[in-house]
Amino acid sequence: DRMISGDLQEDDLQVEQSLRPQVLRQYIGQEKTKRNLSIFIEAAKMREEPLDHVLLYGPPGLGKTTLASIIANEMGVQFRTTSGPAIERAGDLAAILSSLETGDVLFIDEIHRLPRAVEEILYPAMEDFFLDIVIGQGDSARSVRLDLPPFTLVGATTRAGLLSAPLRDRFGVLSRLEFYEEKDLSHIIKRTADIFEMEIEDDAADEIASRSRGTPRIANRLLKRVRDIAQVNDMDTITVDITREALNMLQVDAAGLDHIDHKYLLGIIDKFQGGPVGLETLAATIGEESQTIEDVYEPFLLQKGYIQRTPRGRIATFEAYRHFNREVNG
Ligand code: ADP
Repeated sequence: DRMISGDLQEDDLQVEQSLRPQVLRQYIGQEKTKRNLSIFIEAAKMREEPLDHVLLYGPPGLGKTTLASIIANEMGVQFRTTSGPAIERAGDLAAILSSLETGDVLFIDEIHRLPRAVEEILYPAMEDFFLDIVIGQGDSARSVRLDLPPFTLVGATTRAGLLSAPLRDRFGVLSRLEFYEEKDLSHIIKRTADIFEMEIEDDAADEIASRSRGTPRIANRLLKRVRDIAQVNDMDTITVDITREALNMLQVDAAGLDHIDHKYLLGIIDKFQGGPVGLETLAATIGEESQTIEDVYEPFLLQKGYIQRTPRGRIATFEAYRHFNREVNG
């Protein structure tokens, strides 16, 4: 597993729950999304109605699941979770929906991976809170209408573009989560250190923040590793020196890039003269799935301006050359 992937890894699971903020006030950064949501939540509560359906999109590890559970907490309702790939048949979704209580939040992660047949029964459920289910087979098959309690669907996806238009249109609130600023990540790291009951120097928190690819999950993971190294060295404060040493050991460079990013960028620079090079070709050269490259790794490289996507493929930018102290040729 890559140290600096935003994807949830086994190692993250033990601490994931304890680190998750419970209410909007504890949720750091994403000011625009928070402001909008708090207004919608307050208005829904005043009207004593469930919150409108919410679609959260953005790269993994930015806090979509966390925000969904905060919405449930703030609304004072139950939080139920599932994911697109986990719901194989219409009946699976019907079972979940019919077990909801009024106002509940149903979170569907990776909602772009819902099978089409399942998606179709979701439309009337979202719009008018009923299910049309077919009972029986052949000649005796008949359609039954099942009323549902009003509920809030919170969908999460790494790419809103993969969602079908009819599904996207049924969300009242669309919110795009952004990569975090370093000061916000620093704040998250200090909060996590506090939960771990560790002291951390400000500079050390900033150092981890600058190598965390704008992603809280990565920030927490790096902190955990740095803490381990500080502890085996019998230190009760995480200093900036031990942090640098630990992060270098983990081979996460000053910009938060690891050996796979290096392979990817140097691949474009050295093997393809800076590009353009097609995604599939690049994926084959570095031995990664093209889907993973596109969803998990490239968003950060794009945001930092190391690469550009063009119709003819990926290009390494001047920034990328500079990162490796390379001259741009030709
Ligand atoms: P996603 O669902 O987008 O992949 P998660 O909601 O699972 O991301 O967030 C990953 C971890 O990062 C959470 O366990 C939480 O500890 C931390 N986290 C995410 N967003 C925030 C935030 N705004 N403030 C504090 N911690 C956060």
